[in-house]
Amino acid sequence: MKIAILTSGGDSAGMNAAVRSIVKAGILKGCEMWIVREGYEGLVRGNQEHAEDRKEANAVVDEEEALDQVETRANKVTAKSHTDEYLLHNLRFGDGDLLRDGTSEFVGGRTLKGRYIVRVGWDDVRGWFSEGGTLIGTARSATFRTTEGRTAAVLNLIKHGIDALVVCGGDGSLTGADVFRSEWPSIIKKLRSEELITAEQLEAHSHLKLVGLVGSIDNDMCMTDLTIGAPTALQRICEAIDNINSTAYSHSRAFVVEVMGRDCGWLALLAGVAGGADFIFIPERPPPEMPWEDAMCAEIHRHRAVGKRKTIVIVAEGAHDKELNPIRAEYIKDVLTDRLGLDTRVTTLGHTQRGGRPCALDRILPTLQGVEAVEALLESQPGTPTYMIGVRENKVIRVPLMDAVQQTRAVGEAMKAKDFKKALDLRGPEFLEMLHGFAAVSSLKEEKDKLPANKRMRVGIIHMGAPAGGMNAATRSAVRYCITKGHTPLAVHNGFRGLLDDNVNELSWLGVDAWMARGGSELGTNRILPSFDIGGVASKFQEFKFDAVLIIGGFEAFNALLLLDEGRKHYPAFHIPMVHLPATISNNVPMTEHSLGCDTSLNALVDACDAIKQSASASRDRVFVVETQGGKCGYIAAVGALAVGASLVYTPEGGMGLDMLRRDVRFLKTRYLLDVPGRSEGRLVIRNEHASQVYTTSVLTKMLIEEGGSLFDARSASLGHTLQGGVPSPTDRARAARLSLRCMAFMEEHHNKLSKQPPHKTRQAEPASASVITIRSGGVEMVPVQEMLKHADMVNRRGKTEWWAKIVDLVGLLAGKPQFLGLK
Ligand code: ATP
Repeated sequence: MKIAILTSGGDSAGMNAAVRSIVKAGILKGCEMWIVREGYEGLVRGNQEHAEDRKEANAVVDEEEALDQVETRANKVTAKSHTDEYLLHNLRFGDGDLLRDGTSEFVGGRTLKGRYIVRVGWDDVRGWFSEGGTLIGTARSATFRTTEGRTAAVLNLIKHGIDALVVCGGDGSLTGADVFRSEWPSIIKKLRSEELITAEQLEAHSHLKLVGLVGSIDNDMCMTDLTIGAPTALQRICEAIDNINSTAYSHSRAFVVEVMGRDCGWLALLAGVAGGADFIFIPERPPPEMPWEDAMCAEIHRHRAVGKRKTIVIVAEGAHDKELNPIRAEYIKDVLTDRLGLDTRVTTLGHTQRGGRPCALDRILPTLQGVEAVEALLESQPGTPTYMIGVRENKVIRVPLMDAVQQTRAVGEAMKAKDFKKALDLRGPEFLEMLHGFAAVSSLKEEKDKLPANKRMRVGIIHMGAPAGGMNAATRSAVRYCITKGHTPLAVHNGFRGLLDDNVNELSWLGVDAWMARGGSELGTNRILPSFDIGGVASKFQEFKFDAVLIIGGFEAFNALLLLDEGRKHYPAFHIPMVHLPATISNNVPMTEHSLGCDTSLNALVDACDAIKQSASASRDRVFVVETQGGKCGYIAAVGALAVGASLVYTPEGGMGLDMLRRDVRFLKTRYLLDVPGRSEGRLVIRNEHASQVYTTSVLTKMLIEEGGSLFDARSASLGHTLQGGVPSPTDRARAARLSLRCMAFMEEHHNKLSKQPPHKTRQAEPASASVITIRSGGVEMVPVQEMLKHADMVNRRGKTEWWAKIVDLVGLLAGKPQFLGLK
């Protein structure tokens, strides 16, 4: 199959990762890969054969020439294997480096003048990960909207024998893609009748195989949780809000922050949750109260009345009131200044949100989506629907493209018709959950709005194990929710040791205000389990009158919950709802795919590796062995390796052995031999600290230095505790808020059940009331801790099965490792 890729509409971080992965995945499947520059405009323009220009440019290498070059290098490879042949054949087709220049006729450049459809090879997309925007260019094409334009596009694809297309863009681009595919059969008939294509071409290209990827910073597409670029944009916004927070606090100011989102409030909503804002305005849900100015001022006044020094209001650029009158940042500022006397400033973040290096999620998800896109194309038949590759709870999914586009359009129509309930429903349950979550943690309720006394709980909150990004955010959300409902949030400082020492105090709404953006553990944490003095722990539960307990932490926290659950046999104090919220950078809690802290940790890894890779590239032929934490769970190493494009990864699950090392060294040698002389790049090897007791990072590095000879040098770097990350990522913060509110709802439900038991009988909590909140198979689920036990490897402190095991294979595949190619 010959597959072409284009990026269209507004650029977004992660588009390059998607293109890179599609190119590599396609080559691995034996496809010929092409890139269309400048979106649909490039497809319409095609390649004008300007022989003169090409000679003039001198840098343009045609396929023959590229192959010659590669073969010359190949002759250097001693002991050629099938792998080498395979890689050689697909390594470079010449124009990849020129793509990086971003120069073209269309944008007034030079080297690729007149060439919009370019064949690419494996190495052409090397290192594309860390760059923002789209290296192959994007455009908005008026011509493609016309039948003439699309006819030219069809002809250009057929000329190159291309029969499959991947489009990465927003809803407009994907609509255009669907129009293109549905018109294809009639256009080719017309082209045949005009004898512009041959009968063979008509036969061979009767059907266009098409797949869409959603590249859009707004996260405005329905039927997918995340669009490519949205997590990075959210990161940029949260960085800005974190910075604004400190100056707002210093001067006791109010800030109105305008963020992108013409028709979609996702960025404003998530930034509101993750940034700890006081009030937000989003298009899907205008303020229900009119005049909304009164409601906003009343809320902010309540915040100020309890002593809050700063106010953050986030407004999406497309925000409006119930009557669709726009709500502008400047106007909000005037209202806050005039009515509340607040010193208020406006900050419009504008294009800073769009650009920059992609965050870890915008490297991992587009990579996985790219692989899925190629699979979908290979399976595509004339009768199958056109798919859009989306994401649900970080899992890659396929949905019918037009259903997603139509549902997205329907949101806009519902808003135009002022049917905001419908608009919200169409956005999906997670959006709605976030919205309720924001209200729960940002608004201060009056006594009359709280739960009746018999439904109120005293909730103990404990941190356990190593710190992880999002622990404090989860605690903040739980505390705020408690106060909103009339529960009493009790912080247990310093884990179970602290509990035994009576280190417990009530937390206040204002006291946790800044915790959203704080890394580490504000409560203090350690690894002491309740078995240290289980009777003492039970008596403290009783003394502090806990009605429910939330334990936030990693494998220790899971273990602690198990011990408390087993303690129920002897101690009635444990017959209360008890929940474990997994927070650990190791992500080693069984049955959950994602723990709080992983995203922050992956971002820390990506930041460190980008810097290391730069240094490795500067010294040309250098391999960096990067050691990660993660206990005996290789998650962070494996997923991190995917996020940084590592050549090799070693995990405790996979272990390390001599045969493996010999094969890996040989692979690295081959790769360096095949590099264009003088243009080698640094390569990364990621090794979990417990991958082997013998082949340590130091041994591995020395081995590589020895074996690399004149081909490459090696160095090592241990990331250690830096992987715990500083400031938690917005994804971890938002996830923390969402999961912690789910935990609260779960505890309320079980508390209510328990309170219905006859008072004269000993309280008997059902087993399910001691549960772990998990993210599995695309959904959030509470799993009883005893059920979890069946899936836990208590010796190695991890789950018995690793859902991410296939990621290790994918790292190997995308690095071009022989054994993953089915070759020797
Ligand atoms: P963003 O979300 O960043 O705005 P988008 O993909 O929605 O991205 P658009 O400007 O709507 O951006 O669309 C990009 C291109 O897709 C257009 O310039 C046009 O070439 C093509 N396109 C959009 N809608 C159609 C359509 N209905 N028919 C044909 N082509 C279309």
